[in-house]
Amino acid sequence: MKIVVAILSIFILALMFTLFYYNPYLTGNTIESGNLTTTGLTIDDLGELRHWDHMPLSYNYSNEEECFPIRISRAELALNEIERLTENQVYFVFTESDADISFVCSRESFVNVVDRTETLGEAEVEYNLERKVITSAKINLYSGVPEECNYPDIEIHELLHALGEGHNTHTQSVMNVVQQKCLKSINMNVDGVIFERLKDTY
Ligand SMILES: [Zn+2]
Repeated sequence: MKIVVAILSIFILALMFTLFYYNPYLTGNTIESGNLTTTGLTIDDLGELRHWDHMPLSYNYSNEEECFPIRISRAELALNEIERLTENQVYFVFTESDADISFVCSRESFVNVVDRTETLGEAEVEYNLERKVITSAKINLYSGVPEECNYPDIEIHELLHALGEGHNTHTQSVMNVVQQKCLKSINMNVDGVIFERLKDTY
């Protein structure tokens, strides 16, 4: 009987830990700090709470010389794709100076990632908690990317974080945490709602 109770306790503790670890509403600290860091391994879903207060959004590459050229071209494709899918309600302009969205190519993670080999991009979004306005975003483009995957799904995923979108659980969604990372295109039957929301917001 004691063994059963002990096993049950460990199970419940593990469950509580899991819920605490994966649920930003419970951990709270990332929300209250006004700084949210996401990776393919961290679940957040603050989507509709956050948005930019201006358009267009400027972007730059803070250390382009460190980037694999393919990641630059994929980022450019991702920017174009988001403009197209929002019918230019969201649009981006390149800048040499300080940008709203800064692309970084770094092996240094923004956050403690458990398994870097599973994570191909990450986004850090800073925002004003009271106004729920996003003030800046940083997107890390890791070097490794499957060659056979031409569509910039990773970059779109991170850019959508930068636009205030969170994860969802649909297996075909570009915002699925454990997506295949090799989408051929955005499935608008699944993700159309995201782009409709962006068009409404901006
Ligand atoms: Zn993500």
